[in-house]
Amino acid sequence: MTEAVPGGGSVTAVSGAPTPAGPTDADWAAAVAAVRGLQPDARVLLICHVNPDGDALGSMLGFALGLRRLGVRHLQATFPGPAGVPEPFRWLPGVELLVPQDDADPAPDLVICFDAASESRLGDLADRLGGAGTSLVLDHHASNTGFGDVNLVDPHAAATSVVALGLLDRLGVPLDAATATGLYVALTTDTGSFRFEATTPAVHEMAARLLATGIRPGDISRRVFDTRPFGAVRLFGEVLGRATLEPAAADGHGLVWTYATRDDLVHHDQPAYVLEALIDSVRCTAEADVSCVVKQSGDAEWAVSLRSKGAVDVSRVAVGLGGGGHRFAAGFTGRGPLDDVIGSIRAALPTAVLTAPPA
Ligand code: AMP
Ligand code: MN
Ligand code: MN
Repeated sequence: MTEAVPGGGSVTAVSGAPTPAGPTDADWAAAVAAVRGLQPDARVLLICHVNPDGDALGSMLGFALGLRRLGVRHLQATFPGPAGVPEPFRWLPGVELLVPQDDADPAPDLVICFDAASESRLGDLADRLGGAGTSLVLDHHASNTGFGDVNLVDPHAAATSVVALGLLDRLGVPLDAATATGLYVALTTDTGSFRFEATTPAVHEMAARLLATGIRPGDISRRVFDTRPFGAVRLFGEVLGRATLEPAAADGHGLVWTYATRDDLVHHDQPAYVLEALIDSVRCTAEADVSCVVKQSGDAEWAVSLRSKGAVDVSRVAVGLGGGGHRFAAGFTGRGPLDDVIGSIRAALPTAVLTAPPA
């Protein structure tokens, strides 16, 4: 670590909206300076987005362990909301660094945000950005607003963990199995276990580096993707049983959707996070390009997941309805009766069609 102080001139000089091409050399240099400039007793707070997924938690905890190897002692990690860590991620190395949001340092020397495209995805923790000496944003959403003092945003990165590893490399942090585990969970989550279009040669090269630390991909995949309580299996059966196919939607590309209420969760005695995997069972529908799962999150509030196989830009739909995301995986918060939420999606789909409808 050098003598520089976080928040110094070189750090704030590159603030502003990220470039579509990804971080510049100046961005990387500013991020390295922000970390290397930390004093030995500096306090660092890491935050990821609400309802954290494998990329959010894996990037954050993997990076946190890398910082610890660098000698940073006062580390906290957190995410917004009252819910605990979803069961599939409770075994992650570094999970002991997690604190409830109310215990998160209000004025850390450095705050680092993971996988969040905007401050609104940080919920009640958004105020930590203003309270921190310096804020650093690591992300891969093209829609990222550049809300940090330093923004490492690479829309071409398959996961935020690609950016996180890029920074760890520039900091000279050697990879170990603990760090690699989080980064690998993040990479497999956002590439759909190396099935999505984002699975470039660079993704496989990064996976090879991570696996070379000795981590076990079979164990990791089973814990993260292939394990759920029997109650969730029954719940999925019920929710999938009411899936609706609308072949004429999205100018004939087709929409398949279903919903789950809080009563469904109570009935099957399941926590809300189990529903995150549901979209993968819905989106396999051959007759629909667009798939949608609507999950009740309040009396008249719904967390909506949207996916496309390539004919529709669902981020356009989500952004138009107050949310965000990637071209083929996006979401938003719907308000009002379920029928209205579905109706708003149905109405927006034709505006987001990318390719000619099927003959
Ligand atoms: P999900 O369907 O929850 O897995 O989310 C898919 C993508 O959509 C994620 O990469 C998020 O960035 C984005 N997303 C989901 N919900 C929201 C929201 N309420 N606001 C902004 N972006 C969202
Ligand atoms: Mn995410
Ligand atoms: Mn991500």
